Amino acid sequence: MLCPYCKEPNTQVIDSRTSEEGSVIRRRRKCPACGGRFTTYEKAALSMPQIIKNNGSVREPFSSEKLRRSMEIALRKRPVKAALVDEAVNSIERQLRLRGEKEVSSKEVGDLVLAELKCLDMVAYIRYGSVYLNFQTLEDFVSLVEQTRKL
Ligand SMILES: [Zn+2]
Repeated sequence: MLCPYCKEPNTQVIDSRTSEEGSVIRRRRKCPACGGRFTTYEKAALSMPQIIKNNGSVREPFSSEKLRRSMEIALRKRPVKAALVDEAVNSIERQLRLRGEKEVSSKEVGDLVLAELKCLDMVAYIRYGSVYLNFQTLEDFVSLVEQTRKL
């Protein structure tokens, strides 16, 4: 970002915050050349994070389509209205955007999905959890169900 005072091209971000509704990122910047400080407002929509998979070896742009499909698989034949799934997908997107980060791990996305499914439908939550948490044994499954019961 160009310094408005001396045109130095490499300015530093000293503070960064996202507006409440998540649409604008306000950054305080400092110019290392002249010491000038200024503020920029950037559209947060441009900064939807990349998703990092498999301990950093694969990166891909966030896709709400993909997210929705993975949730629909878990919700198959469950009595949950499509509008509620839309809301859950929007909510996950919003939470990711509010972080204002360039990259988010697929595990973090999975945690957000689990939190949404927990509110929507317990069966879908357990289905998604059993795939996402990579269950190997029946005991893994039983222990998730038991944890769910205690909630
Ligand atoms: Zn400057």
